[in-house]
Amino acid sequence: MNIKNLIQSFSLGELRQGLAVTLRYMFAPKITVQYPDEKTPLSPRFRGLHALRRYSDGDERCIGCKLCEAVCPAKAITIDLGTNEEGVRCTTRYDIDLTLCIFCGFCEEACPVDAIVETHVFEYYGEKKSDLLYTKKMLLANGNRHEAEIAKNRELDAKYR
Ligand code: SF4
Ligand code: SF4
Repeated sequence: MNIKNLIQSFSLGELRQGLAVTLRYMFAPKITVQYPDEKTPLSPRFRGLHALRRYSDGDERCIGCKLCEAVCPAKAITIDLGTNEEGVRCTTRYDIDLTLCIFCGFCEEACPVDAIVETHVFEYYGEKKSDLLYTKKMLLANGNRHEAEIAKNRELDAKYR
């Protein structure tokens, strides 16, 4: 051990250096986000819980083309088709199994009418597997609930598409 190290040891130099760092950070602005009271900003392209959208007159956007079902790499989407009272093709069943979904966004990208989208909602859970099977009714309800935010994000995102 040389003299320099000996002095350093006896004068508790390393301890003082460490305490100086502690002291500096004690008064520095905090960067920890106090979730859930605070949240970090999300990109307009964030891929959260799915929703099915309607047009402003209340009609469903989905035209039952099944492109989303075909493109889904996880086979998480199941669609059955039928016709509505006007004889127009529509989905009679539209399920997304979120236990299979990998949130890749392909369904959203493939949809020609912006019907299936992924929202900013990431705070959801299921106590059993069946809680995460989202039916058409649940997806349309998500769309109704978050339409204002979805429309805003689609507008912001348009320049990247
Ligand atoms: S986000 Fe991807 S994995 Fe999930 S339903 Fe859409 S296409 Fe399928
Ligand atoms: S959600 Fe879009 S891609 Fe899927 S069936 Fe409906 S219109 Fe076609």
